Amino acid sequence: MRAIQVDQPGGPEVLSVVDLPVPVCGPQQLLVELAYSGVNFIDIYQRQGIYPMPSPYVPGLEGSGVVTEVGSEVSGFAIGDKVAWPSSLGSYATLHLVNASSVVKVPTGVELDVACAAMLQGMTAHYLVSSLYEVKPGDVALVHAAAGGVGQLLCQMISSRGATVIATVSTGAKAEIAQQAGAAHIIRYDSEDVATKVRELTNGQGVEVVYDGVGLATFDGSLASLKRRGMFALFGGASGMVAPFDLQALSRMGSLFVTRPTLADYIAGPGEMQWRADEIFAAHTAGKLNFAIGNTYDLADAATAHIDLAARRTTGKLLLVP
Ligand code: NDP
Repeated sequence: MRAIQVDQPGGPEVLSVVDLPVPVCGPQQLLVELAYSGVNFIDIYQRQGIYPMPSPYVPGLEGSGVVTEVGSEVSGFAIGDKVAWPSSLGSYATLHLVNASSVVKVPTGVELDVACAAMLQGMTAHYLVSSLYEVKPGDVALVHAAAGGVGQLLCQMISSRGATVIATVSTGAKAEIAQQAGAAHIIRYDSEDVATKVRELTNGQGVEVVYDGVGLATFDGSLASLKRRGMFALFGGASGMVAPFDLQALSRMGSLFVTRPTLADYIAGPGEMQWRADEIFAAHTAGKLNFAIGNTYDLADAATAHIDLAARRTTGKLLLVP
């Protein structure tokens, strides 16, 4: 099978195309022929070695495809089923062995590109608005990098819950995308001061919740944009990881909450991953949630996808076609 392999941490050049033996299906596993592998920002952190990884490893956590072999102890799946998963390392490949407990079935009528996009970024946006903080009608939320993969989904999910989105983006084209996704207000954080603008837009009040996957560059502005007792969801560091922080500042700034979540902890409960997938697929089928595929690349061009994502040239979901 064809796969991308990383032998040592580094830049995009460490993503090389290799031929690997077809893996043997274990009793609780499924062998899946991939239709799409999802590209996510975490793939970059892992490739760079910011998150420690085995060596060598096949990158990619997210994928969708068709089951070609079913493990002897697996029930409820058959050859030919369409499945998708948000978190199974080794997904940049033509074939992937995945634990049956780590996949969801793709319902009829949902295309495999959408199914892939709905996994890591979709479930992340879902837990951020429904579990980490339950967005309510009337809330005002600040969403950074709102034209990105998670960002566009957050805009849609927050606005559909009757709350107002203040979005940050770095270009005019991205501003239009964020508005189409449901953002009521745009801040160009490449040229405007975020906290000042947020105070102007909220009559000095600040926002109930900040969703920040940008990290280092936005951290201070995010904190300063919150309302008293507001919630700061720091869920990534696309601009760099945030340095250690003085917790006393939270008291001085209005008894704020800060959390640093990760998807794995929000799909760990019994049935939790399936519940999120069901809600996401249902919203999509009802025409209430759009998955914007920003670009597709051949599997062999994974390095180009990483370069584009890190250079802020992309919007929406990036997919590799094995
Ligand atoms: P995006 O599509 O959002 O791409 C990242 C965006 O971040 C860019 O397009 C850019 O938008 C913005 N950005 C700002 N500064 C930089 C910078 N210096 N370098 C690169 N990008 C920058 O990616 P994803 O949707 O895949 O992920 C968004 C964030 O969410 C990431 O931090 C990711 O790690 C995190 N994440 C966290 C999860 C969790 O459970 N904790 C799960 C999934 C994702 P602009 O040009 O508008 O500034």
